[in-house]
Amino acid sequence: MTTTADPVFGGIAGLPGRAVPFFPVQPHIIPQTPGFKDVQSEVVPVLVVGAGPVGLALAGDLGWRGIGCLLIEQSDGSIYQPRMDLVGVRTMEFCRRWGLVGAVEGSPYPRDYAQDNIYLTSLTGYELGRERFPGIGQAPPPKESPQRRERCPQNMFDPILREFAAAQKSVTMRYRTRLVSFTQNAELVTAVIENADTGARETVKARYIVGCDGARSLVRETLGIPMHGNPVLTYTTNVIFRCPHLLSLHDKGKAYRHIFIGPEGTWSTIVAINGRDQWRFSIIGGAEQREYTTDEIKALIRRAVGRDFAFEILSVLPWVRRELVADRYRNGRGFIAGDSAHVMSPTGGFGMNTGIQDAVDLSWKLAAMLEGWGGDGLLDSYTIERQPIGARNVTEASGNLRRMLSVEPHADLLDATPQGAAIRDKVGREFSETMRREWFTLGAHLGYRYEGSPICRPDGSAAPPDDPRAYTPTARPGHRAPHAWLADGRSTLDLFGRGFTLLGFGVDVKAAAPLLDAARQRRVPMTFTAIAEPQVAALYERKFVLVRPDGHVAWRGDAVPDDALRLVDVVRGAASSPSRQAWAAPVQAPVKSATV
Ligand SMILES: Cc1cc2nc3c(=O)[nH]c(=O)nc-3n(C[C@H](O)[C@H](O)[C@H](O)COP(=O)(O)OP(=O)(O)OC[C@H]3O[C@@H](n4cnc5c(N)ncnc54)[C@H](O)[C@@H]3O)c2cc1C
Repeated sequence: MTTTADPVFGGIAGLPGRAVPFFPVQPHIIPQTPGFKDVQSEVVPVLVVGAGPVGLALAGDLGWRGIGCLLIEQSDGSIYQPRMDLVGVRTMEFCRRWGLVGAVEGSPYPRDYAQDNIYLTSLTGYELGRERFPGIGQAPPPKESPQRRERCPQNMFDPILREFAAAQKSVTMRYRTRLVSFTQNAELVTAVIENADTGARETVKARYIVGCDGARSLVRETLGIPMHGNPVLTYTTNVIFRCPHLLSLHDKGKAYRHIFIGPEGTWSTIVAINGRDQWRFSIIGGAEQREYTTDEIKALIRRAVGRDFAFEILSVLPWVRRELVADRYRNGRGFIAGDSAHVMSPTGGFGMNTGIQDAVDLSWKLAAMLEGWGGDGLLDSYTIERQPIGARNVTEASGNLRRMLSVEPHADLLDATPQGAAIRDKVGREFSETMRREWFTLGAHLGYRYEGSPICRPDGSAAPPDDPRAYTPTARPGHRAPHAWLADGRSTLDLFGRGFTLLGFGVDVKAAAPLLDAARQRRVPMTFTAIAEPQVAALYERKFVLVRPDGHVAWRGDAVPDDALRLVDVVRGAASSPSRQAWAAPVQAPVKSATV
């Protein structure tokens, strides 16, 4: 058994034991990749600190845009305990753009493994309720996206992102390399990095630095950015145990998540971490710090299963569940993304998915500055757009935790009496209803919008409700440009990515010429695509829709505006912001909404 106290993650010292990789990956399959011959003599365009999923996604996306980037990671890339395993719909849309869908779908998590969430007194005890979900490979994508959400635990997902980043010619990756300190001036960042094996230090000069260095971010601290919120929701202990025959010990069948409710209320969970022989047992805990001995942990696992059985504990990770958001995501040439910018309860599976959205928002803006077409206000729009989304998702995740812990104590919950049965029935019904909000989250993943963004031009239309459960497709400025299938089998999303895409519905390129010319004058990459499909035109609602490199709508209208040059300046962050009032709009008939 090993115990891992993960300082980056905000873990706390736990049981004694040597931390060895639980899921060894092969970090050195990626040699020090060769983008920069000599980081000491060259100026690195972007220094990314931390190769968790967010740093890997950022480096990969920068590389995909041809932007030079040095990614450093203090560890050797081994995963001690996989944390995330839900890859959300939006993240899968980015994977589609990056050509990674096949790798995710081909990862070893069994695609026919039922994803039910069960509420129960123990695996061999009473079932109180169940939300049924088919295996990931058996669920069709929602009609609002070309992709479905995926189950791909971190020890499978990180290597996919790592290979993606390493495959980009302009990306250099260095594992066992730690950021020690950095300073910045108006032109450059100067960072001291250290080889974790030899202790050798070198100085790196970079145009920008991005801290993807997790909850205890040194980059955030050095930039002097405070976080606000609740530093302790629970002291939780996660235990990975191996038991290949667990399914044969009970009658509940295959399920992804089991939530255990005892007379005291909700107290633990077990999830099928690899869909085979490994399980993650989580003692939820409370606001009081508590450490468990091995014997106590074993007894609690047996309580959850409801009988004695043989199993092997593989690792124990005590950690602190927090609810924090950074006040801003930028200071000068320094940025933060992912857990360094927001730390949330895993309830809902938003943490990494929010961080990868940060990375995609920031990446094209850094590219624009480095390529010389970004305006002075472009980088400030990163905080303005992403910080409210971080706060939104942190709040939703904490709400999910509260809902999971909302069961009142019932002393007779386990009684084999009619009264016990009546209580179990009531608890099961109410809990099943309450928990649905955590399981159906298409709105949370696709419905985030950059309301009031200074680099989008509002069109006066009303915002659909921001409901985490329900997503309302809309091409309103600030929103994710919606998905629709094109006649040739592509998704509209396949049209977006490297530059701006001007969509034309019932108009030709001549009508678009003034805007395309304005973009050319400002060296903003912009292409025009005419779309003939009437159902797509109906969804997008205007004759022209301008989509940014990250797939969000920057502007739409029925004619190219007279001030085309000014519009281009707005969307590249070079013109003063449209007023906040312009976003507050008269209420219109809502576009059809949907849940999945
Ligand atoms: C039990 C659990 C389940 C979860 N499930 C989900 C889920 O299903 N879906 C989801 O979206 N999220 C989930 N999350 C949250 C998710 O795991 C995190 O949000 C995500 O890992 C954050 O990624 P990151 O890259 O920002 O940070 P991290 O993964 O923390 O990576 C930071 C990296 O920076 C490195 N680093 C730190 N300091 C330095 C330095 N000075 N120099 C060099 N390198 C440095 C660290 O070694 C580390 O590798 C879950 C979390 C938990 C605890």
